[in-house]
Amino acid sequence: MKVLFATSEIAPWVKTGGLGDVAAALPPALRRNGIDVRVLVPRYPALRQAFPDDKAPVVAKLGDFGAGFAASVLRQATAPDGTPLLLLDCPAYFDRSGNPYLGPEGRDWLDNHLRFGLLSRVAAWLGSDASDLPWQPQVVHCNDWQTGLAPAYLALLPGARARSLLTIHNLAFQGLFGAQTLAELGLPATAWSMHGVEYYGYLSFLKAGLHYADAITTVSPSYAAEIQTDAEGMGMAGLLRDRADRLSGILNGIDTVAWNPVRDPHLPHAYDADHLPEKRKNKAALQAEVGLKVRDDVPLLGVVSRLTHQKGLDLLPAVAPQIAALPAQLVVLGSGEKALEAEFRELAELHPGQFAVRIGFDEGLAHRIEAGADVFLMPSRFEPCGLNQMYSLRYGTPPVVRATGGLADTVIDGVNGFVFKDATAEALLAAIERAAAAWRNKKVWRAIQADGMRRDVGWAEPALEYAALYEKLAQ
Ligand code: ADP
Repeated sequence: MKVLFATSEIAPWVKTGGLGDVAAALPPALRRNGIDVRVLVPRYPALRQAFPDDKAPVVAKLGDFGAGFAASVLRQATAPDGTPLLLLDCPAYFDRSGNPYLGPEGRDWLDNHLRFGLLSRVAAWLGSDASDLPWQPQVVHCNDWQTGLAPAYLALLPGARARSLLTIHNLAFQGLFGAQTLAELGLPATAWSMHGVEYYGYLSFLKAGLHYADAITTVSPSYAAEIQTDAEGMGMAGLLRDRADRLSGILNGIDTVAWNPVRDPHLPHAYDADHLPEKRKNKAALQAEVGLKVRDDVPLLGVVSRLTHQKGLDLLPAVAPQIAALPAQLVVLGSGEKALEAEFRELAELHPGQFAVRIGFDEGLAHRIEAGADVFLMPSRFEPCGLNQMYSLRYGTPPVVRATGGLADTVIDGVNGFVFKDATAEALLAAIERAAAAWRNKKVWRAIQADGMRRDVGWAEPALEYAALYEKLAQ
């Protein structure tokens, strides 16, 4: 089975969220199941640096796709874990530092339709008999809107073609562009239809993918059901209901090598379920690192998150006084909406030594919070899968989560964490209070920690599910 995995980000080089982690972990897990998977990703500066020209020979010159795309070549490289990479080298589009989607002003690059249109177009080219590469995938596995046009190109262009699969990691990002982009992207006028790429007067990469893909997955079974409801379908519910027979949920795994408290280079003290006192040392080290009072008689709540409405963290400041009075400590690492960043900064100033806030992206600190906190908070309004709650399960840091999407599929109330229903500050507080009470009962707490740490949250099982789906598609 040959599979092209097309993605706009891949950890550790380029990552803005869960997709970056999945792109780094799923392909090697698939390869362990004998699947010949290659990863197509733009050659951003970080990948240019990791794979300079002499380590990434050109394997194809990409011709004119009959559209407004810049010239590009395809280079081949091998990731340190052995995964073959196909790097889309188009300096005009991708040799830009920083966030892969946003310019320095924090706004979308104006040519994002061309940048990710080209990525989609090349994915489709590789999956068609137009490709002159000896390696031909049977399935093109696309991810989110950035490669959402690939199923459309595959379906609309003549000739033999691979089957397409689109995985939704986040339905909120839909890749909407003006109608004039249709011609620039080399799509036929006939595609401009409700039964095509058009979405309420716009061209939507995601909608196109959902319409044309041979199969659709999303990253948890609960989220697969939720997105078919008008309340949570983000305007795509009708289409998703129409395609329900092609839609399924496969829960993400986590990278159990990068996220392993026994061997985590970011932690001062290694530990496992049998050595939990070492976890307490990580707590003390974390408290010292972020400027909290070093004490073990209060629970430390941790947050690592994008600070956005989706993540429900705006609920937290409202109950900060009650959390302070519990008493509990809080450490927040994140960045996102400026107003929320400011609110958390203020909280830290108001409660020095008790609340600490770090605005920014810090991989090492994220690991130390997972290890050093007692309780992890994830009050998301919606959560396609969520990785952090799985990290926290594995790190013996029971999560407090809202019952939605992948959080509902991985956290069991009172067994390995704490679950609340309503997206309100009161419901969040009540769950935090329950967690704090359980934390004070060492025997109960150890059982909850142990259950989470025992759970298999790796990629072996999800990889088998994807492999079965590829087989079904390729038949
Ligand atoms: P999403 O993809 O919606 O942001 P996930 O929980 O699925 O949420 O994945 C988030 C990933 O990004 C996790 O690996 C998390 O540790 C990481 N992350 C988010 N914010 C930060 C941050 N400020 N610093 C370091 N890592 C972060």
